[in-house]
Amino acid sequence: MGFIRPRSAVTPLRRAANTSTAAVGHRPSVMQAVALHRPEDPMHCIRPGVLAETARRFVGAFGDATGGARGGDVLYAVKCNPEPAVLRALWDGGVRHFDVASLGEVRLVRQMFPEAELHYMHPVKGRQAIRQAYQQYGVRDFVLDSMDELRKLMEETDEAADLGLIVRLALPKGNAVYDLSGKFGAQPDEAVRLLRAVRVVAPKVGVSFHVGSQMLEPAAYERAIALAGRVIAESGVAVDVLDVGGGFPVSYPDVTPPPLDDFMAAIARGVAALDLPAHCRIWCEPGRALVAAGVSLVVQVMKRRGDELFINDGVYGSLSDAGVPGFRFPVRLLRPFDGMFGGGIEAEAVPFAFYGPTCDSADRMNGPFLLPADVREGDWIEIGQLGAYGACLRTAFNGFDQARLVEVADRPLLETPGHRISTQAA
Ligand SMILES: *Cc1c(COP(=O)(O)O)cnc(C)c1O
Repeated sequence: MGFIRPRSAVTPLRRAANTSTAAVGHRPSVMQAVALHRPEDPMHCIRPGVLAETARRFVGAFGDATGGARGGDVLYAVKCNPEPAVLRALWDGGVRHFDVASLGEVRLVRQMFPEAELHYMHPVKGRQAIRQAYQQYGVRDFVLDSMDELRKLMEETDEAADLGLIVRLALPKGNAVYDLSGKFGAQPDEAVRLLRAVRVVAPKVGVSFHVGSQMLEPAAYERAIALAGRVIAESGVAVDVLDVGGGFPVSYPDVTPPPLDDFMAAIARGVAALDLPAHCRIWCEPGRALVAAGVSLVVQVMKRRGDELFINDGVYGSLSDAGVPGFRFPVRLLRPFDGMFGGGIEAEAVPFAFYGPTCDSADRMNGPFLLPADVREGDWIEIGQLGAYGACLRTAFNGFDQARLVEVADRPLLETPGHRISTQAA
């Protein structure tokens, strides 16, 4: 039970990844890990079993939805959580494709999984990044949303004849929690021109889009697929790939999304309505949905002031989504030394706000986070659903860059409908 590891901010992409599965065998519970280590630094609790199970379920559901002769590939969006232990668990769950967006991500994944299929899905890439990804790391698939980027790709691969070129399509502003419509993507007319242009130079071409992150409406995928279908039809190009992007939602305390199968059904309907070539593969690029439930964070209460708790992690650490974006996360109080079996918590739950450890008064999280009324200095709090866009956004601001990493056996603090395979079937 001693496999806790230290972790400072911004390291996952900088260090040599440990490519072997870390110390499997007996994993402690979160409560046991807290009792053993009494962590004064934030402690990241990775649930490899949950991550692998979620990946297996997602890959299976997407394969079924895009089934038959066609078939679908699930590309994990690495930016969401590049922690090697997380990548390893997803690989164990059957993920073989990775959506990478920087040379750092390319290197990390290639080093861990020599056989992985890497897809460079950032529409604006550095020239040296393209050259190295192509020449040193075997990347063949690249996304683009402009003629300038196409020119760059051809120049930096010395006019390679073995590229997969995917045209990123802009979508009208949608209603995702994180709208992604403003920054990337070609407008339909431009996408038509780009598709015709890439067909001339690449043996594999396709269309991609992103409906926005934490998208709660299954029909958004159907609409986006229909738009992609109109662009493809107008171009007259036989595409090899249709990539429906990421955005699949998970549960948070005030949000229960429709079941995963509703999203899969919407994608299946959307694809069935198009006249795609028989060999065309369907891709998706989930980030959040694969990893959110698989990591939680244990913080310690440094001070209580009424209904405000000063804790040892905050918006400059792993909790940036709890700051201005105002995400609420599931929480539970951990008091391992009270009572015979830990716990000893009887007080009624009341709302609290958090302050992070830095000296910036903006380092505040309004929640509300429901915790027992008698929370006090020295208590630990577990904060769930932090596997997505949590630890990867940490900074070293104000010197609060130390954290611990431990692999645990617990279930998630919140389940997302359709993410869990029944125990019998697993
Ligand atoms: C961030 C991103 C994803 C993952 O999005 P989620 O909402 O986490 O599923 C997928 N594809 C692209 C191009 C992205 O930028």
